Amino acid sequence: MRAVHQSLDIAAILRRAEQFSPRREVVSRERDRSLQRTTYGELGGRARRLASALLRLGLEPGARVATLCVTHRQHWEVYYAAPIAGLVTHPINPRLHTDDIAFIADDAGDEVLVVDEAFLPIYEQIRDRTPFRHVVVVGAAPDGLLGYEDLLASGDPTWQPGELDEWSTALVTYTSGTTGRPKGVAVPHRAIALHALSSALPGWLAMRDDDVVMPVVPMFHALAWGWPYTAALLGAKQVLPGSFLDPASLLELIEGERVTLTGGVPTVWMGLLSALDDETRKFDVTSLRAALSGGATAPPAMIEGLRNRHGIPLVHTWGMTELIMGAIATLTWDLQDAPEDEQRQHRYAQGVPMPFLEIRARGDEGLAPWDGTSLGELEIRGPWVAREYLGQPAGGAEQWTADGWFRTGDVVAISERGYIRIADRAKDVVKSGGEWISTPALESALMDHPAVAEAAVVGVADEKWTERPLAVVAFRPGATATPQELREFITPKVARWWVPERIEIVEAIPKTAVGKFNKRVLRDQFDQDTSKAEA
Ligand code: ADP
Repeated sequence: MRAVHQSLDIAAILRRAEQFSPRREVVSRERDRSLQRTTYGELGGRARRLASALLRLGLEPGARVATLCVTHRQHWEVYYAAPIAGLVTHPINPRLHTDDIAFIADDAGDEVLVVDEAFLPIYEQIRDRTPFRHVVVVGAAPDGLLGYEDLLASGDPTWQPGELDEWSTALVTYTSGTTGRPKGVAVPHRAIALHALSSALPGWLAMRDDDVVMPVVPMFHALAWGWPYTAALLGAKQVLPGSFLDPASLLELIEGERVTLTGGVPTVWMGLLSALDDETRKFDVTSLRAALSGGATAPPAMIEGLRNRHGIPLVHTWGMTELIMGAIATLTWDLQDAPEDEQRQHRYAQGVPMPFLEIRARGDEGLAPWDGTSLGELEIRGPWVAREYLGQPAGGAEQWTADGWFRTGDVVAISERGYIRIADRAKDVVKSGGEWISTPALESALMDHPAVAEAAVVGVADEKWTERPLAVVAFRPGATATPQELREFITPKVARWWVPERIEIVEAIPKTAVGKFNKRVLRDQFDQDTSKAEA
């Protein structure tokens, strides 16, 4: 018999929110831009009712409930309803290519789809290739499909979850496929509970009940999908921005709801920085105590711009689909009084892993020392780090070491204090004449230039050096510079042999479905294509 009885599960998180924070608000932006105000008390009741309605559809334990939704209160309800009913929520990124959406819905065996009315055209394109038995529409449901509110109303308002196995799957998520075909990960209840606890600790998010939390990255993204649980566990107010992720709409919410904690990918913060720099409209952002940036390297110029010009403490975080959030670059005790420059260098790093996560870096000659400079591939393990990919434990096995550590594909240096600094992704790294060139470092140097809005660097084949970096640059509106000017600008900032011979100018850098630079597309476009080489 177990010495303690209670399992670490999502039902316990919901119970906590309903019992201790029933009046704490959740604000959700609707399709017509209006703000809908509800509470944990109300949402908890609705999530339980929806859970019973899903079970009445005749689903077996473990059945998958997919979502194609923006960040709103109904999506939040499904995040609870399916797992507390012993089912599994599978949030899908609506911005993926429809072929990828059809592939992952089929791969996951999704039986139910909860879809925003606005995304019905996506459903129409994939319906013949997907296993959905029930389609539930948030908004007006066309004939033959279920309305979300009707389904919910058919449930039992007094229903309570039964006992759950903390090792059973609560969520499945897929990698965004930046470097290959999307791969699925099953996340057990226990992993979500432990991730919520660990990420909320004072040295990391330091989340409290008086926080007002607004995830900007959509809920299917590793940086965001832990938040509905973490915030509810702590009783923090949540602000769900719906489909309005443009800088002005976000700034309105930050100002109006007094948001204290928010998170997004760097492209979101670059947009916000431009909007704040443009003085035609002023916003009060003094409530923010941290804006988290993750998913790709946060350029130092952006971190400093937000911090120095607008007082927004941008906090660098690192995460992956395979492990949710992994590290946060807050300053450890021995850096609190360190010189400003040393503090800055640590804020630019990806941070220290949360408690219970263990890391190591494997270089060409075994494990790399923690000296801040020796590079190696980051390996990680912990209670919420995946041990296998869905449906392909054998196929994806090369992603794990023989002793079970997950190989992240990120090339890093680890400092004495345990700060991870990502030099590059293994697949993006440029190896020129046998030496590594860090593409994020080159990109940051280029983005320091006042005319440059975005810069991405990829490796292209080179006869003499095997590979050379090629930079693709998009300018700010009305600004410009020649490739030669850009080369001169970065020369003092990076090693001389890093400076790219080829700099291509584009209108905008292509992005992946989660807003990262799409280097696969850039490589396809510019590799081999030497005709356009800049002298
Ligand atoms: P995909 O691998 O398809 O992009 P993920 O969203 O899981 O899907 O991306 C995880 C990867 O994103 C990490 O392995 C890392 O390369 C990159 N990443 C995440 N956060 C950061 C960060 N703060 N700085 C640099 N890279 C990051």
